[in-house]
Amino acid sequence: MNVAANQASRFFADSNNVSHLLDQTSEQLHQWMRERGLPGYRAGQVSGWLFQRRADAFDQMSDLPKSLRAALAESFTFWTTTIAAHRRSSDGTEKLLLQLADGHKIECVLIREGSRRTVCISTQVGCAMGCVFCASGLDGVARNLTTGEIVEQLLRLDRLLPAAERLSNIVVMGMGEPLANLDRLLPALEVASSPAGLGIGARRITISTVGLPAAIDRLAELDCHYHLAVSLHAPNDKLRSELVPVNRNIGIAPILAAADRYFEHTGRRLTFEYVLLGGVNDRPEHARQLAALLKGKTALLNVIPYNPVAGLPYLTPAGKSLVLFLGILTDAGINVQVRQRKGDKIDAACGQLRRSRAAAMNVKVQVAKQIG
Ligand code: SAH
Repeated sequence: MNVAANQASRFFADSNNVSHLLDQTSEQLHQWMRERGLPGYRAGQVSGWLFQRRADAFDQMSDLPKSLRAALAESFTFWTTTIAAHRRSSDGTEKLLLQLADGHKIECVLIREGSRRTVCISTQVGCAMGCVFCASGLDGVARNLTTGEIVEQLLRLDRLLPAAERLSNIVVMGMGEPLANLDRLLPALEVASSPAGLGIGARRITISTVGLPAAIDRLAELDCHYHLAVSLHAPNDKLRSELVPVNRNIGIAPILAAADRYFEHTGRRLTFEYVLLGGVNDRPEHARQLAALLKGKTALLNVIPYNPVAGLPYLTPAGKSLVLFLGILTDAGINVQVRQRKGDKIDAACGQLRRSRAAAMNVKVQVAKQIG
């Protein structure tokens, strides 16, 4: 898949003879300027136009010499995607379906909540983890996104805001498994968090993972401590392996151990996510088992009532079972929060818009029903 992502970068470079500007590190852009005998501060000016002044084209970078703007446009582009669909929900949530240069489609979302402007971004085209209730992975994974494609989502969403507003938070909870594409995600988050980039501090960036212990350890070793959310979804290995098939090769205990190490290293409170599927993982015994697993951890449990996906047999839990489930956990001293649903009318849960669009275009999607 790394090969595929490299090919995606090259596909773009070959077909247009230009590179994705957002794939360049700040050092590479400085180097590009130096090679042309230009002062390094020109690289900073370009970043300023991209990340603070919301330029849409090199031509708008009015304090750069015209010759430099032309040279940049010959070598680079920063829009490699086109907006295939743009949906707005009455709660202020906006969702973009972006078409990549090679024709694949991905999704990203802007969520407005009080003064927060949170964006949810994708890291892969599709997903290989196979969670049976999730729309993103129904067709498997096509490829990793490049760093440029990840940053581009941030810029596309940033451009939806009025001049006085800035993006405040990032959740890496869109399509794909972020920890399966860390090599490309980390440089993108560096740009997002750097003051010369979008200036969104690491504390306001959440990476959500299915739970890949080695990659969690790698994240813990970084200087930059992002907020980690682990998708648990079941309190025992039998059920988790049914709902999250990748669990068969991992198991809950090693994931919790890696999460504990992450907490020890970073001191950052962990989040565990639990998608509540009516009649599947929402019984009182599940709540009791979950409470036993999480007891004593400095952690928040985020319970997410299922957002139904057309063609899948899973249901939102009944109100009564949700209340009972939460009550058992709260009584056991677990710190629980129910995630508010945002933008459900615009297919905002990961992979849903891409999927409903595909259905509308009569693309036959094979739904693999994995629970026997
Ligand atoms: N691969 C990462 C990111 C996935 S999306 C992970 O597994 O964490 C972020 C969260 O949304 C995950 O917990 C995922 O299981 C959950 N999710 C996926 N589809 C959903 C749906 N239809 N309704 C509610 N939550 C969903």
